[in-house]
Amino acid sequence: MSPRTLLPLVAAVLLGLGSVASAADAPAAKLLAGAATSNITPELGIDIVGGFLPFPATHIHDELHARCLVLDDGKTKVVLVVCDLLALHRCVSIEARKLIEDATGIPAANVLISATHTHSAGNAIGAPPRGFYSDHELTDYQRFVARRIADGVRRAVNVLRPAEIAFGSVDVPEHVFNRRWFMKEGTVPVTPFGGTKDKVKMNPPGGSPDLVEPAGPTDPTVSFIALREPAGRLISVFSAYSLHYVGGVGTGHISADYYGVYCEALKKLQQGGESDPPFVALMANGTSGDINNNNFRTPRLRKPPYEQMRYVAEDVASKVNAALAQATWKDSASLDARYRELGIAWRKVEPELLAWAKETEAKALRIQSKADITTVYAGRVQRLANASPETKAPVQVLRIGDLSIGTSPCETFAETGIEFKKRNPFAHSFMVELANGYYGYLPTPRHFELGGYETWPGTNYLEPQASVKIMDALLEMTAELTAKSK
Ligand SMILES: [Zn+2]
Repeated sequence: MSPRTLLPLVAAVLLGLGSVASAADAPAAKLLAGAATSNITPELGIDIVGGFLPFPATHIHDELHARCLVLDDGKTKVVLVVCDLLALHRCVSIEARKLIEDATGIPAANVLISATHTHSAGNAIGAPPRGFYSDHELTDYQRFVARRIADGVRRAVNVLRPAEIAFGSVDVPEHVFNRRWFMKEGTVPVTPFGGTKDKVKMNPPGGSPDLVEPAGPTDPTVSFIALREPAGRLISVFSAYSLHYVGGVGTGHISADYYGVYCEALKKLQQGGESDPPFVALMANGTSGDINNNNFRTPRLRKPPYEQMRYVAEDVASKVNAALAQATWKDSASLDARYRELGIAWRKVEPELLAWAKETEAKALRIQSKADITTVYAGRVQRLANASPETKAPVQVLRIGDLSIGTSPCETFAETGIEFKKRNPFAHSFMVELANGYYGYLPTPRHFELGGYETWPGTNYLEPQASVKIMDALLEMTAELTAKSK
């Protein structure tokens, strides 16, 4: 074809008169991104959850936030929110996602809301006896959190602007340790239920000569999604690391733990981090149900409050920041999402265990003893036995370009997150736990055989096959998104 005959065709295409290129060949629309935070700090006096028994907050060391990131590929928007909470009830996520959909039109299925697992935050799970196990009227604080999440997302939508995206990861193995240990025969202590069949102990004494080896792996990888203004300053970094929490806060303190310190540290490392609108970092929990910050091979050193969390947070922030320098940036990424609620059964309570629970509680009431770990479990077992027949455990997969994020509403073990990455067809993938609801620990079937704290009824609430059902659903949804992208 000569240039002369080509001209009218080019003109026709430019004017939109011809259909030379099919819709599939059209260049992807440019990506937009916006990020904002919302303060979700509760009032003093609220119950702090995270220990065996709640206790009232007497001081706010640092503010709690819902950190919100919105992405828009021109056709679809997805939202990622990370809240400074121990966990959140499914009803809070449903209410927040409804408010977001009403205000912005973003479908509820495209909104991922997770908790960090800071152990120094207000209760958004719901109060016993029924709150945990069933849908309920939101408490004042739960309603406040839902509204503030929606506000944060609306703020992020208001500052959507052209963006480039990069995916990356960096291994930071030095802060993560598997906390479930095989111990020498006869040295695993008795359980609250009396006697023990446990083969492993959670949080064994550091440096004990009875330690044999950890019962599972760690996942040392910090995965991240970075957004920046075209060839300009960073808009946001969403990251996920598989570390339960660090702790070491003052007594009665509200604090966002290392997650909050990390976000502030990464912001300080950015030129123009405080410019308008400010840079927003997010740190989600990966899969850390069996992972914490204690190196059990040596006795744990006591440090002043907040020292260890600062050490971990600043180190992880500097390593992510260094990895950002190597990032490859793109100006488009296809977005999509899948969301399901799974009818996973609650853990079955055997009649003998229920009889033990009733007897133990009655005895405690007779002698008016203070609540110890045995009576706490006696109460938990009875509530578990009375739970509604089935859960509606939410699971979700977000597709962001070459990345797939799978979610679990539980304290999920590291090996589950590793399996999701291994079996995932996407170039990049990772899991976010404590997402869109809360259902306790999620040991794999292998770990149910080993026993230990995370498998006890009253710490674990779901059937032993729950982790398998969640993985199957995540991989099915991922496959749907892969098929659609071809
Ligand atoms: Zn936990």
